[in-house]
Order: sequence, then structure tokens, then C-alpha cells
Amino acid sequence: MSSLGNLRDLYQQVILERYKKPRHRGKTDPVDRHHRGHNPSCGDTIELTVQLNATGDRIEAVKFEGEGCAIAMASADLMAEAMRGHTLDEALQMVQRFQMMMQGKDEFPSEMRKLNVMQGVSQFPVRIKCATLTWHTLKAALEASDESQTKGFVSNEEVA
Ligand code: ZN
Repeated sequence: MSSLGNLRDLYQQVILERYKKPRHRGKTDPVDRHHRGHNPSCGDTIELTVQLNATGDRIEAVKFEGEGCAIAMASADLMAEAMRGHTLDEALQMVQRFQMMMQGKDEFPSEMRKLNVMQGVSQFPVRIKCATLTWHTLKAALEASDESQTKGFVSNEEVA
């Protein structure tokens, strides 16, 4: 079907563009939340930093550092962009929605439709962990209430 072909083209185009020219690479200043993630099946590593607003309930910025495949890096860049301005509750709902999307059960509303490009990855099951790594890592960063919970890193091995 041509629609599937178009989706695949768009998916490859967006992923390659974000991989080559990420817009949200670096570290936030200040760092209010942070966490590292690792996807052993591909070798992707990621370190997320999050800046919150003055009351600590809304995301001002997310930035990422790390090395990995184009899918992992593009997913981090798209996620960082989508998270700006959202409350922590909304952010955690978006993480859940992304996981559902990777299982073919949901997608994002039109104002966040860029994220739907990552649906293309679900056609390649071995790469799904690459796409979800940054989302699992953000969840861990947001749920860590004190510094001791951010030691080590999130591993993608047990979660799909
Ligand atoms: Zn990867």
C-alpha cells in the first residue's frame, strides 16, 4: 500500500534528519532531574537532564547526551522537543502512550503528531528497544525523588 510506503519514507527521513542534526543535545542548566539509560541489545547509551519550572511540576526543557543508533538518538531528540511545557503527570502519560504506540495500540493526537513517525519503528521489532530507551529513562528521571535513585542506569533488557 502506498500509505505504508509513505510512512516508511517519512520515518526514515525524520530519523536521519534528527540523528544528523539533533536540536536538543546537551545538558540543561540547571539540572533538576537526570538519569542514564542503556540498551544492551544495541549498545545505545543515553543521559537525560531535565529542567523544571520554579514550582517543580512542569518541564521547561529536556536535553540528552550519549551514543547510539539513529533510532535511539532521533527518538531522544523528538521526545525532548515534545516534553517542553508539559506537567510531570502529562509527561508520564506520554511515556505510556509511546509504549502503547510501539505495540500498535495507540498514537499521539495531532498536536504531537511528529512522535507518530516513530510508529515506523514498530515494523522492526528488534529496534523497538532503541526507540523506547529514552522514554524509559525519562520516566526513571521523573520518578526519582532523591539523588540515590539516579545512580546506575535504566536497562532496557527486561522491558519490551
Ligand atoms: Zn539502537
